[in-house]
Amino acid sequence: MTTVISSIQEWKIIRKQFANSVTLGFVPTMGALHAGHLSLLKKSKQNNTLTVLSIFVNPTQFNVEQDLKNYPRTFPEDLTLAKQTAVDYLFFPSAEEMYADKYQYCITENSMSTTMEGKYRPGHFNGMLTVVMKLLQIIKPDRLYLGEKDYQQAELIKGMAQSFFLDTEIVTCPTIRDERGLALSSRNQLLSVADYEKAILFPRMLQSALSCKEISKMLSQMEIEVDYIEEHNGRRFGAVKIGQVRLIDNVLL
Ligand code: AMP
Repeated sequence: MTTVISSIQEWKIIRKQFANSVTLGFVPTMGALHAGHLSLLKKSKQNNTLTVLSIFVNPTQFNVEQDLKNYPRTFPEDLTLAKQTAVDYLFFPSAEEMYADKYQYCITENSMSTTMEGKYRPGHFNGMLTVVMKLLQIIKPDRLYLGEKDYQQAELIKGMAQSFFLDTEIVTCPTIRDERGLALSSRNQLLSVADYEKAILFPRMLQSALSCKEISKMLSQMEIEVDYIEEHNGRRFGAVKIGQVRLIDNVLL
């Protein structure tokens, strides 16, 4: 049975009642669930007594208003998937309650968050880190499950957990791709059929033996707008725009 909770206070009361022996796994998402999210939920279910899924389209991590407006919201379908996956609790808070302080307080990181995604999406990582900190304070999970698809995000969350002595263990899980190699993303459903055919070239190019510069050039020639293609620590990262849809991915070299 999946219990839906939308009030922070209601969750806090439930959380206090768990025995010490209970371990709690937590999967934060922005909804429009797909097999990538489900892989995190399955991992959490394997390794914990109880699993909490959160769905919250976090306004503070969107730097472009239209992107926040367009972000897919599919709560009825998400609830069905949560039930099918036997998620124990679905936390679905309101922006009013999450940001009762109107975002007066926030978490800032001064180094890694200014590169790659941070460079192209100013303020994105401050919003993301702030909401993750809030969610961790509310849910108080033993383990947090994150996808490698958002590698820079996962690294920043690990750094925050270390810097603020958080007790939650952070587990990263591999990127789930569709049959044509495109990393699953809630934004993929915004791609037209023609744009999808373009989008599948992005992971192929990332995995190719070409240099970052050559990949950028090739993608541009295919009318794919490139934000960046960069290599760090044996990984290649990229972000592109296809039509109105921005996609990110990374691969191990
Ligand atoms: P989102 O709903 O996009 O904020 O993602 C919620 C969590 O799911 C994040 O930890 C993501 O990294 C993870 N995630 C998203 N897409 C995938 C995927 N294709 N494979 C694995 N994890 C993913």
